[in-house]
Amino acid sequence: MTNLILLGPPGAGKGTQAKRLEEKYSLVQLSTGDMLRAEVKSGSDLGKQAKEIMESGGLVSDEIIIGMISGRIDQDDCKGGFILDGFPRTVPQAEALDTMLKDKSINMDHVIELEVDDEAMIERICGRFTCSKCGAGFHDKFQPLEKEGVCDKCGATEFTRRADDNEETVRARLVAYHEQTAPIAAYYGNRGILKRVDGMAEIDAVTRQLEEIVG
Ligand code: ADP
Ligand code: ADP
Ligand code: ZN
Repeated sequence: MTNLILLGPPGAGKGTQAKRLEEKYSLVQLSTGDMLRAEVKSGSDLGKQAKEIMESGGLVSDEIIIGMISGRIDQDDCKGGFILDGFPRTVPQAEALDTMLKDKSINMDHVIELEVDDEAMIERICGRFTCSKCGAGFHDKFQPLEKEGVCDKCGATEFTRRADDNEETVRARLVAYHEQTAPIAAYYGNRGILKRVDGMAEIDAVTRQLEEIVG
């Protein structure tokens, strides 16, 4: 069983790589962004609170996020190992995660930071789209569909683009990342469990670097 955290700004490739590791190692991807988007879609109270914040590129409150992830980690499918994607995103979230894992007697094996250039993230985010049916991720330029208009994975023909994947919001998200999330790297670095990977490499090359770490 392996538990890991993928760190990196919006567009770094966390979701893309998490899906590959999920398949190869039978882990579960826990994306707080996906969980929040599901809440927004369902129209729950939590979703109503999160919607505007997400659209502006800010961060949802630590309290909401911590409650959401703690309940999720308790579910049976996480027992075989999980990948945290998009969480923790603030130092208080990292501290809460530590307490949570200790209480649940769960060990964190790797914290992996995808190192990338900010400017390149604008193009990555603005070209990103997802299959509406199976959730497979693509990119207009870097991960195009094999056959135009058809999902490589499931053959569906409908795709979605996120409301917050526009240049203005991405810039706000990058600011939030540097101010609130980047300090987490030092938090884990001090404990000696942080590994860095070159996230500017091609998608397959990044996967190979991750597989070397996960083993
Ligand atoms: P994150 O989850 O970190 O926000 P994604 O995994 O969704 O990032 O990747 C953002 C976009 O960039 C996607 O459209 C994906 O296809 C593309 N992408 C991911 N990794 C790379 C890479 N190493 N090189 C080029 N494009 C990439
Ligand atoms: P990205 O592709 O930027 O990594 P995510 O899907 O992880 O995007 O997150 C989308 C939005 O959801 C964020 O901009 C933020 O508003 C909210 N969000 C996701 N995870 C967290 C978290 N751990 N803490 C606070 N807000 C979060
Ligand atoms: Zn599909």
